This record gives sequence, structure tokens and C-alpha cells, in this order.
Amino acid sequence: MTSEFFIFDLDGTLASSKNAMSEDMTSLLTQLLEKRRVAVISGGKYELLKFQVVDELEKVDANLSNLHILPVSGTQYHIYNKKKSTDRVYDHKVLYKNEFTASQKLQAISALLEVAAELNFLCEVSSGNRIEDRGGQITFSALGQNASISQKEQWDPTGSKRHELAMRVQRLLPALEVRPGGSTSVDITQIGVNKAYGIRKLCAITGTSLDQLFYTGDKFNDEGNDYPVIELGIDYLEVNSLDDTKAFLEELLQQLGENEAI
Ligand SMILES: [Mg+2]
Repeated sequence: MTSEFFIFDLDGTLASSKNAMSEDMTSLLTQLLEKRRVAVISGGKYELLKFQVVDELEKVDANLSNLHILPVSGTQYHIYNKKKSTDRVYDHKVLYKNEFTASQKLQAISALLEVAAELNFLCEVSSGNRIEDRGGQITFSALGQNASISQKEQWDPTGSKRHELAMRVQRLLPALEVRPGGSTSVDITQIGVNKAYGIRKLCAITGTSLDQLFYTGDKFNDEGNDYPVIELGIDYLEVNSLDDTKAFLEELLQQLGENEAI
């Protein structure tokens, strides 16, 4: 494999939803960070990526100078600069944050609540906040953010409720992009913000060309959040489980080790 820069989706690829990476995954990613640059891109906010990925890597003194973290589909870009050449102590640096204005946020939240009320979605018992402000993205979760995975999966198995909500909210917000998100959620962003947007940003910032990238994710179907990556034409792997990702990393590390030995 000739790729120089490895990009990973987070939930369902490196860790289960909202959980920290396992020790195995952390160890494999740590080994890759010694050899190549690694990016993690997710729809989640920075605090979540920090908890799920960065904190785990810090615990094992991983080489964070090769790590790029792109929360909220790359509307933010975080890197870690080594403080001293000998120690693995890092300064966390935010290269940019593209956030909504206060009035855009207000418009987005009002439109979501108005349509959700019309559709009787607000009658359901919620667990945690229904509206989440991620800076560059507003997310509505019909059952609240803390509902269990099984509750969430039962709410809209066909996706029709999310579709209806997204379609009606889009009519109210023509200057923004509204789309179905996770199993109970609808996301609002600036037009054109998705993982392809984040990856283009990564190329521009790091001076990397698309053909040097390799992407690994778990949702490449039409409505999956990894789908836009395919349109970039970069090499990618679809995994069905965290074990698939581990198997890929093991094989990759072996190949990289063999190339070095030649
Ligand atoms: Mg995923």
C-alpha cells in the first residue's frame, strides 16, 4: 500500500458509539502513528473525540504530532505540537473553527422544534437534550441524546420519520443544509459540509493530494455519513465491525514493517 495518510471514521470504525477506544485499537493506532500521519473525522464534537480517541492515545504516550482530529465533519481542525523535542508533551492547537452565527443557530433550532412539534415528535419522553449545538452543526435527536441504542433503533427503523423532518425543515431553511443523521437525528450544517468537505480541508492544510489518502469507515450506503468520501475518489475500506478495523491495521502495520526492512 502506497498511501501516506490514513483517515478513520470514529463510531463503528475505531470505537463503538460514544465509547472510548479499546486498548487493542489504541495500541494498533499508536503503532501506525509512529509510521504515518493519521486523521480521525467524525460528526461528533471535539470533547467527544478527545474522550474517545485523544485521551486514550495520551495514556500510552502515542506520537500525537502525527495526529489530526477533525470534529463536526471537519468544520474544526485540531493538531498537537510537541513542546520539547525529547518529551511527548503536546500543545493542543485549533487551526480553525467554522461555526454558525448566533442568528443562524436560532433559526435552525426554531425550525427544528417547530416541525418536530407539528409531527408530534416532542410528545415522546426524552432522555437528555434534544438539541445539541456543535458549533458548526445543530443536531436534533428525537428521543434525546442519552436514549439507549435499542430505544433509538426502534424509533424510526425505516428512516421515514427522519426524512419527513429533514425535508420539512429544509423548506424553512433554504440557505442551510438539512439531512437525516443517526438513528433518531437530523443535522443542520452550512451547505456542502460533510466528510468530503473535511477531507478537502485536510489536503489543503497538510499539502497532501487525494491519491495519498486512505479512508476507513463503516457507513458508505447512500445515507451513510461516509458516503461523500466515495465521491472524492480516494481509496477506502468499508468495515462491518471494530474487529475488521483491527484486522486491517494489523495487516497494514505488517506491510509497513516489511517495506522498512527491505
Ligand atoms: Mg461510523
